[in-house]
Amino acid sequence: MTVNPQESAMSRREFLGRVSGTAGAGLLLARQGAAAPAQLEKRNEQSGMIYAPFGRTNLNVSRLTFGCIQLTDDKLPALEMAVERGVNLVHVSRSYVNGQAIVSLGKFFKKPGNRDKVWLMLKGVPQNIDDQLKTLNTDHVDIICAPLNAPDQIRKGTRENAAFEALQKAGKARFLNLTTHASVQDSMEAALDQGDYSSLLAALDPTTVGAMKPTLQRAAKMNVGVMAMKSQRNSKSATPDQLAAALLGAGVTTILKTLNTARDVEAWIAAVNKASRTASALLEAPSVASAAGVCTLCGLCEGCPNGVAVQSIVRDYTYYYEQQGLAAVASERYAELGAGETAAACGNCGRCEKACPMGVPVRRILREAHARLGALA
Ligand code: SF4
Ligand code: SF4
Repeated sequence: MTVNPQESAMSRREFLGRVSGTAGAGLLLARQGAAAPAQLEKRNEQSGMIYAPFGRTNLNVSRLTFGCIQLTDDKLPALEMAVERGVNLVHVSRSYVNGQAIVSLGKFFKKPGNRDKVWLMLKGVPQNIDDQLKTLNTDHVDIICAPLNAPDQIRKGTRENAAFEALQKAGKARFLNLTTHASVQDSMEAALDQGDYSSLLAALDPTTVGAMKPTLQRAAKMNVGVMAMKSQRNSKSATPDQLAAALLGAGVTTILKTLNTARDVEAWIAAVNKASRTASALLEAPSVASAAGVCTLCGLCEGCPNGVAVQSIVRDYTYYYEQQGLAAVASERYAELGAGETAAACGNCGRCEKACPMGVPVRRILREAHARLGALA
């Protein structure tokens, strides 16, 4: 079911007008390196939340984004509370919770007025998006996230860019985002070189964001918004205040967080507000140094002669399984690897571990990941 255009703050006709006009012309605008149009789009702004323009999208987004990676019906109260408090951006993927997340988000959107309070980011660039739109109870996605981690490929442009353009022409998507959680800095630089992306979504945390500052500054100069994900990856004991200060202080526009409870919502809203108010002082703050043994997602361990997806396995096992305790998510992701990409193909040559500048015990992680995630898959 699609939304009733009469209920919508922006009708389909207005949407298509925007696509052929200024704000919707995402790719054209991005390629031209144009500045954001003066008129910001605003939505669901509440006094207790801080907002910032999300790069070339021209959307004035809350500096906290609701992440749906664990969204099920019992967590909808947290979403409702976050939106009531002024969050106006949500991120979801068809794969989250085996498809349940888009079903639950669709229930939220079905309530009159809810869809118009938030902008929707969807991970993946499908050829046909209609079934997902139907489940989500909407007729368009605001930001399509292309998940890409290969800098050379990103620089050349990919089939995802063409697929997005078709969706944009059909009025089903407005802006293109590059999402990356491997070879992060190189992938972000490649996306800026390529020029199609109005925003970037990257794995950034206090231990890596310092080294990323030149890239974040380049993004700001090019008016490309940056969203941080996996902010707690290397800092499990860090508080929301510390994480928000480090990320927003380094120039991140908005932080994507999984918010399951009222307590999560309260803590993170307070943290982004506090960090936003002191961000100018924090811009000059020294970055948190990366600790030995901590993966910075640099990608130097890639290129296994046997084809093992080393970086992905290290990232998913240490973040989802070890740190977040999300065994089901980690095993789902492990099961999605191609047959030759799992750690079963490792010949123990040591090349990946030797290449790692952080001294991550790569081979031990690969062995453990295969034993634990392979058994769960
Ligand atoms: S140790 Fe295993 S995973 Fe690492 S490069 Fe050698 S074969 Fe590949
Ligand atoms: S394991 Fe080491 S080489 Fe591989 S991505 Fe992480 S920090 Fe880089």
